[in-house]
Amino acid sequence: MSSCIFCRIAAGEAPADVVYQDDRAVALRDRHPRAPVHILVIPRRHIANLLALLDEDEALVGHLLGVANRVARDAGVAESGFRVVANVNRDAGQSVDHLHFHVLGGRPMGWPPG
Ligand code: AMP
Repeated sequence: MSSCIFCRIAAGEAPADVVYQDDRAVALRDRHPRAPVHILVIPRRHIANLLALLDEDEALVGHLLGVANRVARDAGVAESGFRVVANVNRDAGQSVDHLHFHVLGGRPMGWPPG
């Protein structure tokens, strides 16, 4: 069994509140939400973070962002606004080493992020 929690969720081996899935991506609610809507969009395949993407992953990244749009619309925050965030490595606060896009919405957000 993989030690990566997001690989285990994608494989159905760990519990998650999944809001969307297809053959390449899974979207699940963050277990410690930082906004009224806080959904994580992950690839099924293990990719450590944005830096680990290969040239051939271009279409996959486009697909993941399409899923981000979709879950934002489904959650009702497309019109009010939402933020898509990918934390990469220590200074950005990446805590799970499996690529994920945070989709945050449902409240006004400050800029720049802390
Ligand atoms: P990051 O800090 O950018 O790597 O984001 C990782 C996110 O994953 C955090 O917001 C965590 O709350 C969330 N997280 C970690 N484990 C789980 C889990 N098992 N189910 C849902 N969200 C998780």
